[in-house]
Amino acid sequence: KAQLLKSNREGDLAGDIAKPFYVNVNRKPEIQEARLKLPVVAEEQVIMEAIRNNTVVIICGETGSGKTTQVPQFLYEAGWSHPDSANIDYLVNVDNPGMIGVTQPRRVATVSMAKRVADELNLSDKEVSHQIRYDATVSNKTRIKFMTDGVLLREMSQDLLLTKYSTIIIDEAHERNLNTDILIGVVSRVLKLRAELSREDRQKIKPLRVIIMSATLRVADFTENKTLFPIVPPVINVNARQFPVAIHFNKKTPLDHVGEAYKKITKIHERLPNGGILVFLTGQNEINQLCKELRKRYPALPPKATKKEIVKEEKANALESKTDSTPAGKADIEDEALELGENQVEEDFDLSSDDDDDIGEGFDDDELADVKDAPLHVLPLYSMLPTEAQLRVFEPPPEGTRLCVIATNVAETSVTIPGVRYVVDCGKSKERKYDVETGVQTFEIDWTSQASAGQRAGRAGRTGPGHCYRLFSSAVFDNEFEKFSTPEIHRMPIEGVVLSMKAMNIDNVVNFPFPTPPPRENLMKAEKLLGYLGAISTTNRHITEFGRTMSLFPITPRFAKMLIIGQQHGCLPYVIAIVSALSVGDPFIQDYHLDEDQPDTDDELESRELGNITSESVAEKERRKLVRKKYYSSQMKHVGLDPSSDILKLLNVVGAYEYAGATTKFCEDNFLRPKAMEEIRKLRRQLTNLVSSNFPEIDICLDPKMPPPNAVQLKVLRQVITAGFIDSVAIRQDVLDTGGGKGVRYKNAKNVVYRLLWTEEEAFIHPGSILYSQEPPAMLVYSELYKGGKNWLKCNTAVEAKWIAKIGKDLCSYGRPLDFPLPKYIGEKKDRKLVYVVPSFGPKSWPLPPVQ
Ligand code: ADP
Ligand code: MG
Repeated sequence: KAQLLKSNREGDLAGDIAKPFYVNVNRKPEIQEARLKLPVVAEEQVIMEAIRNNTVVIICGETGSGKTTQVPQFLYEAGWSHPDSANIDYLVNVDNPGMIGVTQPRRVATVSMAKRVADELNLSDKEVSHQIRYDATVSNKTRIKFMTDGVLLREMSQDLLLTKYSTIIIDEAHERNLNTDILIGVVSRVLKLRAELSREDRQKIKPLRVIIMSATLRVADFTENKTLFPIVPPVINVNARQFPVAIHFNKKTPLDHVGEAYKKITKIHERLPNGGILVFLTGQNEINQLCKELRKRYPALPPKATKKEIVKEEKANALESKTDSTPAGKADIEDEALELGENQVEEDFDLSSDDDDDIGEGFDDDELADVKDAPLHVLPLYSMLPTEAQLRVFEPPPEGTRLCVIATNVAETSVTIPGVRYVVDCGKSKERKYDVETGVQTFEIDWTSQASAGQRAGRAGRTGPGHCYRLFSSAVFDNEFEKFSTPEIHRMPIEGVVLSMKAMNIDNVVNFPFPTPPPRENLMKAEKLLGYLGAISTTNRHITEFGRTMSLFPITPRFAKMLIIGQQHGCLPYVIAIVSALSVGDPFIQDYHLDEDQPDTDDELESRELGNITSESVAEKERRKLVRKKYYSSQMKHVGLDPSSDILKLLNVVGAYEYAGATTKFCEDNFLRPKAMEEIRKLRRQLTNLVSSNFPEIDICLDPKMPPPNAVQLKVLRQVITAGFIDSVAIRQDVLDTGGGKGVRYKNAKNVVYRLLWTEEEAFIHPGSILYSQEPPAMLVYSELYKGGKNWLKCNTAVEAKWIAKIGKDLCSYGRPLDFPLPKYIGEKKDRKLVYVVPSFGPKSWPLPPVQ
């Protein structure tokens, strides 16, 4: 077969190319056999010919048809990245055509696909490499490079014309992630720029081809958008064999989709014929909980994974169950960013009511069984799972067991799990949402689109006819599901991207060729924020020197600004720690649900779930509560640390963690997620190195052990935070009512109303905030707005009104009496410095929390 394929290809190419060129590849026979079955391989000639004759090619094919793993190999074999291929006519005058770049929206797929392609080609990870935000195997031998689209975007601010690449494959374009969309727009500009080069100049650079790959056929946004691609690119449809999938809707839509999924899985497993089960849930917590319950019910006997290992994994999961979040902006849009804010999970599944017992539908009676204790091979799949654990889904399940993978929407199109016959779909996914008014992001669980649900169902029909069980009614599907998911660009804060675009000298972002342009309003808003932050000129909208410096940091513009101001005031190491902690997300395992006066937030439910997983005893919970209370409020005050900011609390934790030797034990003793703490550490190191290498004139302390800040520095830090979050101010209602007067005295923040500065919405300090149990400040800046019933202000810092008037000059209007900020500060002396003295660090070490 292989012989035939090759000779076919040669025959086809012979007319065009004087000397056919193929890079020799030694695939293992079993790999070769498997790949010949992939539908995309049957289209190899068509695809390669299209790529030779067109600058842009679009490839559409069902998930699992082989696009991601095979297309880079076609190119590799045809010499698109091989130094010896210079004699091919379409690569004339080129010493080395450059790399084949493949972009992915998700880290999981980036790493695992690079590994898979390296395995198939029998090459090392130096030759088929990956590059993600924290990790890369790229070398000067790299031929095929898998990377997240964020990585390529960042790379392009240095090399806009993409001179290192012969081809750029933009994969998973149907997901319509922000970075993918931007990338497609930028690449279309690059092609235009290249076309405008003089003949002479053009010959100096390598030819570039762009391949856009998509799982669904909705490519009109790419083909019919004349500003994007003036010449309509050819679309190659790969006809994947898709077996019919019977769709079963629930009659009712349950509130608890995890419990419902559990019920459905037990029924499938006990009654239906062989075949893997793939379950779609919204996030890591739900997945871990369901895995745990299923393993309890069907103790699997995997020969390799011993009980000990499972316990270990569960323990790790319990500690990790709320993942890190990546800030918006230049960060890669990776699915773990969507893991924040878990939702509704019941402690016990309600197994009583059962009005949806149609499990045998579509099966003959003799196919149905009733087996209670058959082993089930339960595997989780989500992006924060270690790579080895992720790759386990590709292995056949142990003899005599049924595979059951519980996944986030990473299994929707990025990863194809073999042998799936049953899909259980909760119909929801977690999405990053973006408040156009405040610019604050929230994470919400919502129905996916009809297109996504179709994709998910399709996973059951890869190897044979399948069944998809939807845990929602057809009425909900018809009435509440959108047809297609909204492109992320319409849901996300875009100031970081706008800044990157500015740094690439794309000034007119409003007219940028986005596949589906975001509302002008959002683009203008992003420009406005960048103006406030001083990143772009408020008059001509060009990037400022300050903005260019900001754009060098792989973090959202507001954090970049904080770093720069922190440096100017001698607090850089602290600000780096703060920014790292805020970038990674909350490392605390929450415990405030233990108080009686708790609101009914999702977090509360989540922490209850956590308690469930770790099987914490009441005594243990009490201890946690005690440690928390003592350490983080009175203790902080006692040792002179500032109790007026959650962000400074984070700083304290980071400092103490280092002094305690950065151990997992420290995390366990203090109820911190070790993985989050490690990630913070990593980001700190990365940012520190970045600063010391990019700005050699800055004398930065490379020792991760920082002495604790003194009182003045603490004040500076709060001002730095104010500068970074100048657009997220809340003021106490009574203070506002009295026009800036003293207002009412409160003992704590319970039920104390705040107003958000720009939208005038009502908000409350979240009980998890350090400010909750003390006299609430007249004014604060928040770094997270959590919408759960009420608006909850999280991660707050008490600020002084005069700082706002000073730092946020441009944001303040002083005209009408009730306007903010307070009129009485109008006359502030102009030349007063923000900070007067910057004393040196004290010798004290970070106070450690008391450990019983
Ligand atoms: P597409 O990109 O069109 O969705 P892929 O190229 O990702 O398709 O997948 C093609 C096939 O390769 C699938 O059947 C998938 O199961 C298989 N595959 C991908 N990665 C691995 C792996 N690490 N181990 C085994 N099989 C894999
Ligand atoms: Mg793919």
